Amino acid sequence: MSQIRAYGTAAASQPLAPLSIERRQPGPHDVRIDIRYCGVCHSDLHTARNEWRNTLYPCVPGHEIVGTVAAVGAQVTKFKPGDTVGVGCMVDSCQHCASCAEGEEQYCENGFTGTYNGRGKENTWGGYSEHIVVDEKFVLRIGHEAGQLAAVAPLLCAGITTYSPLRHWGAGPGKKVGIVGLGGLGHMGVKLAHAMGAQVVLFTTSPGKQADAKRLGADAVVISKDPAQMAAHAGSFDFILNTVAAPHDLDAFLSLLKRDGTMCLVGAPATPHPSPTVFNLILKRRQLAGSLIGGIRETQEMLDFCAAHGIVSDIETIAMKDINTAYERMLKGDVKYRFVIDMATLD
Ligand code: NAP
Ligand code: ZN
Repeated sequence: MSQIRAYGTAAASQPLAPLSIERRQPGPHDVRIDIRYCGVCHSDLHTARNEWRNTLYPCVPGHEIVGTVAAVGAQVTKFKPGDTVGVGCMVDSCQHCASCAEGEEQYCENGFTGTYNGRGKENTWGGYSEHIVVDEKFVLRIGHEAGQLAAVAPLLCAGITTYSPLRHWGAGPGKKVGIVGLGGLGHMGVKLAHAMGAQVVLFTTSPGKQADAKRLGADAVVISKDPAQMAAHAGSFDFILNTVAAPHDLDAFLSLLKRDGTMCLVGAPATPHPSPTVFNLILKRRQLAGSLIGGIRETQEMLDFCAAHGIVSDIETIAMKDINTAYERMLKGDVKYRFVIDMATLD
């Protein structure tokens, strides 16, 4: 074990502050990564504040990690010291259930181990820290240029969480795809759906984000609070990806789907959405679905897709000590469009 510096909290009501955590020494299959950048996901905030009522304290969030390999175990074959790598939301899974066998470790039937707040062989702490030790199976290769690494970090969660459902439900040429919410996940959804060749419509509650949405790749922008703008798109979408982090009226979006269209929820509010109207589903055989991040193979595919298409996140880099202010700004929707912590500021 080694003691390292991190940033976290001992209770839901306390702000994040410096603390010390223990990391294991790398085992034969482990990679030790010096963390250079860590994105700030809304899930970090939900967890630090125990909004999902499952937080283990002390809690060190952070699951959008980019860094440099510092050391590898004797049997590691995929990585060597000096490699630029990423770690997303998972650091382990059972490796023998049907979901793991299919490369969908996020649906591991025995429960995957989260990068933070995980109950694995040891409780896990995330990327708001100096370094992390991870089994090489859960480490990703980064193909982007060195100057882009801060903006690559959010791909490890926001990127894969939007890429996976867009692929699963066939976003591409000839498909009309809606993205709800222009935050960390939503802005990646817009970029990725556009790169996949879909017609993209962004739904936002923030009129000030319209120009950005177009710049990011949306063909049209709808202010979701305006019933007339919503009605103009009734019955027209093949797929809607809903990233909103708060409970809201799902019917307003379900009624925009075509026959057989699907709305997939990825936003995970602390309290439930009001139940949608059943008739909105049955009269057009519409589907309401959910999706959780993505498997390791698909995360690598997403990173390679983004490197090939020149896609990174739009970020604001922050110092570690400014994390509590960043959380407050995230709650107000005041982030364009992902905060990324420069880990050199951890001192
Ligand atoms: P974020 O950056 O805070 O973005 C959320 C966006 O939702 C906001 O920018 C805002 O967009 C919209 N919004 C927020 N409150 C709203 C309200 N009351 N009514 C309507 N719209 C509202 O958060 P994020 O990091 O993208 O995460 C979004 C959610 O996804 C969180 O709940 C997070 O925990 C969850 N998540 C799920 C997965 C998964 O695997 N399923 C993975 C990662 C994160 P506008 O200003 O454009 O309206
Ligand atoms: Zn996340």
